[in-house]
Amino acid sequence: MAEVEMGETETFAFQAEINQLLSLIINTFYSNKEIFLREIISNSSDALDKIRFESLTDKSKLDGQPELFIRLVPDKVNKTLTIIDSGVGMTKADLVNNLGTIARSGTKEFMEALQAGADVSMIGQFGVGFYSAYLVAEKVIVTSKHNDDEQYIWESQAGGSFTVTLDTNGEKLGRGTKIVLHLKEDQLEYLEERRLKDLVKKHSEFISYPIYLWCEKTTEKEVSDDEDEETKKEEEGDVEEVDEEKETKSKKKKVKEVSYEWQLINKQKPIWLRKPEEITKDEYASFYKSLTNDWEEHLAVKHFSVEGQLEFKAILFVPKRAPFDLFDTRKKMNNIKLYVRRVFIMDNCEELIPEYLGFVKGVVDSDDLPLNISREMLQQNKILKVIRKNLVKKCIEMFTEIAENKEDYGKFYESFSKNLKLGIHEDSQNRNKIADLLRYHSTKSGDEVTSLKDYVTRMKEGQKDIYYITGESKKAVENSPFLERLKKKGYEVLFMVDAIDEYAIGQLKEYDGKKLVSATKEGLTLDDETEEEKKKKEEKKKSFENLCKTIKDILGDKVEKVVVSDRIVDSPCCLVTGEYGWTANMERIMKAQALRDSSMGSYMSSKKTMEINPDNGIMEELRKRAEVDKSDKSIKDLVLLLFETSLLNSGFSLEDPNTFATRIHRMLKLGLSIDEDEAGGEESDMPALEEDANEESKMEEVD
Ligand code: ADP
Ligand code: MG
Repeated sequence: MAEVEMGETETFAFQAEINQLLSLIINTFYSNKEIFLREIISNSSDALDKIRFESLTDKSKLDGQPELFIRLVPDKVNKTLTIIDSGVGMTKADLVNNLGTIARSGTKEFMEALQAGADVSMIGQFGVGFYSAYLVAEKVIVTSKHNDDEQYIWESQAGGSFTVTLDTNGEKLGRGTKIVLHLKEDQLEYLEERRLKDLVKKHSEFISYPIYLWCEKTTEKEVSDDEDEETKKEEEGDVEEVDEEKETKSKKKKVKEVSYEWQLINKQKPIWLRKPEEITKDEYASFYKSLTNDWEEHLAVKHFSVEGQLEFKAILFVPKRAPFDLFDTRKKMNNIKLYVRRVFIMDNCEELIPEYLGFVKGVVDSDDLPLNISREMLQQNKILKVIRKNLVKKCIEMFTEIAENKEDYGKFYESFSKNLKLGIHEDSQNRNKIADLLRYHSTKSGDEVTSLKDYVTRMKEGQKDIYYITGESKKAVENSPFLERLKKKGYEVLFMVDAIDEYAIGQLKEYDGKKLVSATKEGLTLDDETEEEKKKKEEKKKSFENLCKTIKDILGDKVEKVVVSDRIVDSPCCLVTGEYGWTANMERIMKAQALRDSSMGSYMSSKKTMEINPDNGIMEELRKRAEVDKSDKSIKDLVLLLFETSLLNSGFSLEDPNTFATRIHRMLKLGLSIDEDEAGGEESDMPALEEDANEESKMEEVD
């Protein structure tokens, strides 16, 4: 037969990060090399899922190879381990892109994780599992046939490059992928039948396609001498003669016949079809790992079935920690695999679970959906809506169960509290139930955190509302002037220091019939005084009315209004935002996000009210001075200074820190009785400003 010429070989350079990753995999010592097999098999399983899904709408897609399988072939002579699947296969472009030239977002993250001491078994989570082949192989050859292209061969010994060649004379795959691993000398254990069987059991037991192992089989057979010739012809395997001495006596021979056969080495019965009470924790864990590529066990599991009008079975898992790209907006996170009557349909089915629960992993197997359902059909599907509703309910149940164990819940909350808060923002139906899962530090919780429920049980007699304060950190809010009155009255205040709290609380509004009230927003009334006290207060308020006006005149547009405060005890004044405006914290977040529409920004952020404390000495002194002479220059300076200080104190940022610094320095000089020069009283005192700024930086250096 004439040799058909092979296609031209093209050489490609690995993308830089992938190249780095390969060196790391090859040159660093990892004891846990066995995970390579799990990764290769998991890729095969993904590829099989893809072709099975395609075939649901177009049967002819299976024509090239009707059977769906994974096959393992150890070859001790050539020291190769071959993994063959009849999955979707890869086109030439797929081979070039997916196996070397296009970096995955996880490549760098994985290397960083490795360098930080992470285990190499984490590789699958980062989307670069294929390269784990180089843990055990010095050379990898991938032959692949996709329905849309010819059969191609990808080959590489790492070292910076790989080649791709049109495969014109190799054995035809029909469709699918064959990966030949040329094992390193010290990795020959992966040719042992026992080892491979154990590995599949350990890491790939729940793969839902048959995994066959090419096994050696030895049988003993008695043959008479004259039969011998014939048998040799019949059997394909080697025939080895044994116990000849003994056998010759009876004119019969006992021979060991070695033959090969495909042995099915995984069970494939989907775990979700079994009864929950018959499944051990280890089985769930190993199913979870095979489902998610996670190297750790799950934190919680919920296995249930819904029966009646609509039937489905599901297993949901909560991982122990958040994936590295939990909030990567480029990637829609959805980790529920959809099956219809045990046939895998798709993952990433957005209709199955809301985005905020995207971190929950699992499977759903519906009896009611049609097998040939398309993504478009899913969008309006009523059955799916019911499934979704049930999944959300079960997820919340599962979280509530986790909350029964403080340590577990701590872990859970650290990883996924942002998701819960997103849930409060988005899921109006379950808002109240999710609110039960929130935990906050508070003025009374110490090092612990408290739930809203516990907060309510601690509410003081006469306390109607739940108070909270938002800010950048616990430290920043703990001693905020806004808390003074509330603290003095013994009212507990929750610290909400997560950027997303602001959004969540904006939607929650109340809990258990109690309003959630921000300590920093306008309208904080603590009406718990006696008539006499109220009267006294009113009088005092009146006497400060003039000062309020004066201050408003000085500050102009900087504030919406100036009023006498109900909430501060020690500080002279504070800035609050309108009930519907942004809090200082929100303003900070919006500025940082730069997603604000600037017009909206100025509207929302302009509504600041200055509240002044009539019991504070400074205010009393100002009041007196204003009474004598409203245009007293020192009043203007003091008011501006007070305003700027409370901007900082209340969590806003200064628009012009330089002017603020100048003002402070002027006050310092005043306090130190240093004479100002003629221009010193004006804000446009540039030389003084510069001089002062220098002084400031010197001071910082000393610090
Ligand atoms: P991941 O599986 O997370 O995508 P891998 O590094 O394991 O990352 O695989 C990279 C890509 O290579 C896969 O996404 C897939 O496109 C392709 N691939 C790997 N193995 C196979 C296979 N057996 N059949 C088809 N495509 C494959
Ligand atoms: Mg993979």
